[in-house]
Amino acid sequence: MPAEPYLLTPGPLTTSRTVKEAMLRDWGSRDGAFIALNARVRARLVELAGGDAAAFAAVPVQGSGTFAVEAMIGTLVPRDGKLLVLVNGAYGTRIVRIAQVVGRAVAAIEAAEDQPVSPDALERALAADSAITHVAVVQCETTSGILNPVEAVAEVTARHGRALLIDAMSAFGALPLDARRVPFEAVAASSNKCLEGVPGMGFVIVRRDALERAKGNAHSLSLDLHDQARGFEANAQWRFTPPTHVLAAFDQALAEHAAEGGVEGRGARYAANCRILVEGMRAMGFRTLLPDHLQAPVIVTFRMPADPAFDFPRFYDQLRERGFVIYPGKLTVADSFRIGCIGRLGAPEMQAAVEAVRATLAGMAVASGAP
Ligand SMILES: *Cc1c(COP(=O)(O)O)cnc(C)c1O
Repeated sequence: MPAEPYLLTPGPLTTSRTVKEAMLRDWGSRDGAFIALNARVRARLVELAGGDAAAFAAVPVQGSGTFAVEAMIGTLVPRDGKLLVLVNGAYGTRIVRIAQVVGRAVAAIEAAEDQPVSPDALERALAADSAITHVAVVQCETTSGILNPVEAVAEVTARHGRALLIDAMSAFGALPLDARRVPFEAVAASSNKCLEGVPGMGFVIVRRDALERAKGNAHSLSLDLHDQARGFEANAQWRFTPPTHVLAAFDQALAEHAAEGGVEGRGARYAANCRILVEGMRAMGFRTLLPDHLQAPVIVTFRMPADPAFDFPRFYDQLRERGFVIYPGKLTVADSFRIGCIGRLGAPEMQAAVEAVRATLAGMAVASGAP
């Protein structure tokens, strides 16, 4: 068994050795080099979103991605505002839950987990309810791996004069999202998904005018994006203890992302990973939940094989022994499991993962992966 398996999961995921090595130093939070590192990371995040530095700020938040989503909802939706969430999986449902917990009025339009959210349904809901101030959508709903039509959602939202909040957690850095073409108020993502840093911080890229209007909105001291941003503007420092090692790793991860060709280069590698995985699995009889045109090159949901010799816990354990960690399904529409294609993995690793699946099926005497 390899000491360190490849993580074919939606995060935490496999990082490069150089990203891990960037953490071999203790930084003081007021160290000039650390302050410069923070400024570099924040500026680069705005650039990656296609944002103009005069109009957008990147506000990092300690914690996992959910902390950033909660900070975005709690800070930007006014106390007397109303959020409409487009839901087609667990992460959309989580946004609804956040709005309830922070005490904001919230409504949801639900689609099945294997269907994209509907811009037409959004159009009707916005026309019918003038109380809605904000719309939230998940770019890649990691529950199934489906790609949602964020551009169409943004167009409808802007046309109705409402503000759009995007959870781009599992897409940012690999799938295009450009403020010049997609009008949004804020986008939340994290250090440890497609940007291939280590877990420990989220961030929100947000319009500066919206941040200004949000003063005093937040339900929480630590998750107040307005105050967090003001801290950075005041002295370039974090309000509370920064995750220094996570930032140092993230700075290195962003340099490696740029060296790979940015969003386009990263997206191309993941698309190739996804193709190798899907073709290899289909050749063994497995079926994907989603048709190819709805599949984001992030994580692929496979239907559970029908062969009575197939046993998922054994399949999982034996793949782990062969050096690959996969992910159980969390769908209500179908019994399934998921295999990710993001992280520091390329064609050789994906081919090896397919071979490991083949060997594991043979070991269990499963003739076909067909559902
Ligand atoms: C990973 C993820 C999150 C955040 O999850 P954490 O476990 O808090 O990091 C939020 N939304 C989506 C779509 C995700 O994939």
